[in-house]
Amino acid sequence: MNNSAFSQSLLDKLGPEAVITTPADIAPWLSDFRGMYKGQAQAVVRPNTTDDVATCIALCADARVPVVPRGGNTGLCGGATPDTRSDNVILSLDRMHAIRSIDTIGNTLVAEAGCILGNLRRAAADVHRLLPLSLAAEDSCQLGGNLSTNAGGVNVVRYGMTRELVLGLEAVLPNGEIFHGLHTLRKDNTGYDLKQLLIGAEGTLGVITAAALRLYSRNDVRVIVLAAVDSPQQALHLFELLFERSGPRMQAFEFFTAECVDMVLAQTDGLRQPFADRHPGYVLIELADTVDEASLRTLVETVIGEALERELCADAAVSESIAQVNSMWRLREEISEAQRADGPHLKHDVSLPIASIPAFMASVGERIVKQQEGIRQIVFGHFGDGNLHYNLSRPLGAPRDFFAEHGARLTAEVLDEVMRYGGSISAEHGIGQLKREYFSRYKDPLDIRLMREIRKCFDPHGIMNPGKIF
Ligand SMILES: Cc1cc2nc3c(=O)[nH]c(=O)nc-3n(C[C@H](O)[C@H](O)[C@H](O)COP(=O)(O)OP(=O)(O)OC[C@H]3O[C@@H](n4cnc5c(N)ncnc54)[C@H](O)[C@@H]3O)c2cc1C
Repeated sequence: MNNSAFSQSLLDKLGPEAVITTPADIAPWLSDFRGMYKGQAQAVVRPNTTDDVATCIALCADARVPVVPRGGNTGLCGGATPDTRSDNVILSLDRMHAIRSIDTIGNTLVAEAGCILGNLRRAAADVHRLLPLSLAAEDSCQLGGNLSTNAGGVNVVRYGMTRELVLGLEAVLPNGEIFHGLHTLRKDNTGYDLKQLLIGAEGTLGVITAAALRLYSRNDVRVIVLAAVDSPQQALHLFELLFERSGPRMQAFEFFTAECVDMVLAQTDGLRQPFADRHPGYVLIELADTVDEASLRTLVETVIGEALERELCADAAVSESIAQVNSMWRLREEISEAQRADGPHLKHDVSLPIASIPAFMASVGERIVKQQEGIRQIVFGHFGDGNLHYNLSRPLGAPRDFFAEHGARLTAEVLDEVMRYGGSISAEHGIGQLKREYFSRYKDPLDIRLMREIRKCFDPHGIMNPGKIF
C-alpha cells in the first residue's frame, strides 16, 4: 500500500481530528529537542483512547508501517525522532491526558500516558500526596516518555527510578493487542513481571497508554543545603555522613563543579556566586519531612556543623526562605540550559559505583586534557545515585563544529573510562539513536542477544521504533 492510501486508511478509521497528513503540519514533529536528528513521516496520529491506539497499531502492523511513539519530545537521545523512511507514523499520546483515578488509601495514581509530569505531581499534591518523580523538564515531558526512558531525576536517591514507582501498566503491543496490566497491587508474584520489560524500552516493545503509580506522603517541610567542597572525595564523605545521620530524609544530593557555576552565571540573569570564594565543587542537598520544620532544621544544622568541623566541606549555607531554596536549586537546574546557550557540546550521561566517582573524575579528567587542551569539562549530576553528566564544551574560541572532528574520540575517552570503573554508558537518558553505536560496543553480547530475542518476540515484523537502542 502506498503512503497516501495508508494515510487515508488511518483517516477513515480514526477521523481527521486524530490524524495529521499535511507536510507543513507534520514538519514540527520531525526533529528532536536538541536539533541533532531530523526524520520523515507520512502522518502524525494523535488518538484519544487506548482502543484508537490499538486500531492505529493494528493497521501499521498489517501494512508493516513503522511506528514512532512520541511523548513530550524532551528526550536527549533522539528516541522519539523518526528515521528518514518516508512511511513512518509518529504516534503522539498528547491527547490522552486523563487522570483516571487517585486513591489516598492505597496511595496510587492511575493516569494516561500523555499526562504532563508536572500536572501529575500537582494533582498528587492537591490530595496531600507526593509523586516523587521530578526533573527539570517536568512541565514538558509526559508520563509515557518517563516510563519509556525509565527516567531518573533529582529524587532517585530517596525514591528510586521511574521503574520503582510503577505498580501497573496498560500498553498496546506491536500487533495491536492491548496489554491489561494496570493493577495497583503492591504484591503480585504471578510469574514474570512483564510491565518491567516495557519500562525503559524506549517504545521498541509497544506503546504505553496508561500507568498506575505509587504515591508517597507529601514532604512539605524542606531544607536545602548548599555546600562548597574542595574535591569529589570530600563530597563523597559528606554524602556518607548525611546518609548516616538523616536516613530517608535526604531526597536529593546533587553535585556540580565551579566551571558549571561560571557557565550558569555567564548565561543567566539574577544569580550570583554562592560563596565569597570560588570553590572547586558544590553539593546541593535537599532534606524533606512531613512534619516539624524546627527539628528537621536542627538536624541539618547539627550535621552540617559536624561536616564543617571534620572538614567534609569547605563552606555551607542552609536555606532560610523559599526564595533561597529556589535560587540554590536554580544554580543546579540552569546548568543544562546554560551549556546549550554556550553552544554545541557533548553530553555523557553516565553512572558509576558511587564510591569510585572521585577516582573516575581524576582519571577521565587527565585523559581528556591529554587529548585536547582547553576543553571545558562541565561535570554535574545526581551524585547520590552515582550519576554524572560528564559533559564537554569546546575550548574557548574553537569553531562551533569543533566536535564534528573531535567528538567521537573524546566520547570514547569518557566511555572507556566509565567501563573501566564498572559503570554504565547511560544512566537515565536511554540509548535512542545517540548511543546505539556505544551500546553495541560496550554492552555484554549476551545481554544484546537476549534483548534482540525479546524484541523479536514482541515485534516480529520490527515496526516499533526501528533504529532505536539497536
Ligand atoms: C532540561 C532537561 C532536563 C532533563 N533532566 C532529566 C533528568 O534529570 N532525568 C532524566 O531521566 N531525564 C532528564 N531529561 C530527559 C527527558 O526529560 C526524559 O528522558 C523524559 O523522561 C522524556 O520524556 P518525554 O515525554 O519528553 O519523551 P520523548 O522524548 O517524547 O520520548 C522518549 C522515548 O520514549 C518513547 N516514548 C514516548 N512516549 C511513549 C509511550 N507512550 N509509549 C512508548 N514509548 C514512548 C519515545 O519513542 C522515545 O524513545 C531532561 C531533559 C531536559 C530537556
